[in-house]
Amino acid sequence: MKGKVILIGAGPGDFGLMTIKGFEKLKNADVVVYDRLVGEDILRFIPENAEKIDVGKKASEHKIPQYEINRILTEKALSGKNVVRLKGGDCFLFGRGGEEVEFLKNNDIDFEVVPGITSALAVPAYAGIPITHRDFASSVYIITGHKKDNEPLDINFENCVKCGGTLVFLMGVSNIKYITEGLISNGMKKDMPCGVIERGTLPNQRKIISTVSDIAEICENEKIESPAVIIIGKVCELGYDFDWFEKLPLKGKNIVVTRPKDRAEGISEKLKKLGAYVMEYPCIETISLIDDKLFYEILKKIELYDWIVFTSPSGVKFVFDSFFNKKIDGRIFYGKKIAVIGNATGDELKKYGMFYDAMPEIYDGKNLGILLGKITKGKKVLLLRAKDGSSELTYELEKTEVQFDDTAVYYTNYINNQDNMVKEKILKGDIDYITFTSSSTVKAFAISVNKGYDKFTGVCIGEKTNSEAIKHGINTIVSKRAVIDDMVSLIVSEVKKCR
Ligand code: SAH
Repeated sequence: MKGKVILIGAGPGDFGLMTIKGFEKLKNADVVVYDRLVGEDILRFIPENAEKIDVGKKASEHKIPQYEINRILTEKALSGKNVVRLKGGDCFLFGRGGEEVEFLKNNDIDFEVVPGITSALAVPAYAGIPITHRDFASSVYIITGHKKDNEPLDINFENCVKCGGTLVFLMGVSNIKYITEGLISNGMKKDMPCGVIERGTLPNQRKIISTVSDIAEICENEKIESPAVIIIGKVCELGYDFDWFEKLPLKGKNIVVTRPKDRAEGISEKLKKLGAYVMEYPCIETISLIDDKLFYEILKKIELYDWIVFTSPSGVKFVFDSFFNKKIDGRIFYGKKIAVIGNATGDELKKYGMFYDAMPEIYDGKNLGILLGKITKGKKVLLLRAKDGSSELTYELEKTEVQFDDTAVYYTNYINNQDNMVKEKILKGDIDYITFTSSSTVKAFAISVNKGYDKFTGVCIGEKTNSEAIKHGINTIVSKRAVIDDMVSLIVSEVKKCR
């Protein structure tokens, strides 16, 4: 059976600006053919086993020619695949979506189109520029500033000036001098407000507002590059007062997150929503130790113990996933009391339909040990945690009469991350904060990056992580409680202090 091609507009870059329908369709893709302007965060949602084909194009150098893209779409659909063609912004606005659909139609291949939010509308909005306003402009014209195969531009400048509406140019940065001179020589006032927004809607968005007579020179001096939108019209003046994006508390801040890949998302998303530019640089990974032998050992042990103790979300996940995989009913935990080290571990437990009975006020091994010492007297306690876990917990328990067993259910592997882009940015002083959510992330980071510690601030989740970071000579700040939300608000208040 023949497959189908679904053209999806992915929006201008900000992850939240792709439609729900677009995401739904993307989830079922067998093959995803995507462009350069599709946001990195959206690409993370391509199903793991889908084939990914990058046909990204740059202004004058087409990485893969259009006829080749058409051929790929057709060939994949003919082989029965559900093909998603993911395009920046909207599919049909200057993205050659029309040509792709024409080719599919001629080859008798079914297609669907999911429109996207175009950069022509979203980028001005993120710059605080309403493209129409009753006092300034009652029409908008969206114009391409780039021609097919570098043919000469044939913009009707006279009409552009006469229409009196807002002009939005896409693909126009390399021709900005030609465009602005053309408008002025056709009667546009030299002081007409004009805005250029580079990488709009993204955390590293840059915005310039000036006049049509000097914007080209400023863009050249500031080295503004594609992708950028040029907006010309009186509404651009509002971009000073109506800016909201630049005012986000972490706008302009570059933050590195060192958490394992599968746990980075929570903190990264929170920081991004506040305007930060986040780079994930996983320094550790957690690996389950639960093989068949250990699984049956744990199973047997669980029957013997009154209290089960988890000291990390990973521990909870590995234990419950192994039970689920072996089809062991959750009622095996019936009647057991469960203690967790902190909120995140408690939240992970809830995902498996269970609630904890005890959690210390301060989320660390020492305080968990002190609490257990008080509440589990005469009871049998099973610790299910990382290999070489904190000795503070067992030290506290050993001081009491609690009977406990310590079972390692996973271990932490240090990754020697080789992402040179992040390393170079650290050395150049371009990174403001690096988050450390455990002492192992600090140790692993120190193996992978051994220079430039005076150029950023380490944001540590608790005292133990903090002292590990200080040991390595990192300047640190430390969150009051060992929770992600406190780390995020700590960064926000720190940035506020420095602004
Ligand atoms: N179909 C797309 C436009 C494709 S043409 C849409 O609807 O947005 C590519 C041009 O879009 C770029 O040269 C630039 O002018 C504009 N563009 C796309 N994403 C952008 C972004 N995040 N910031 C600024 N301009 C962007």
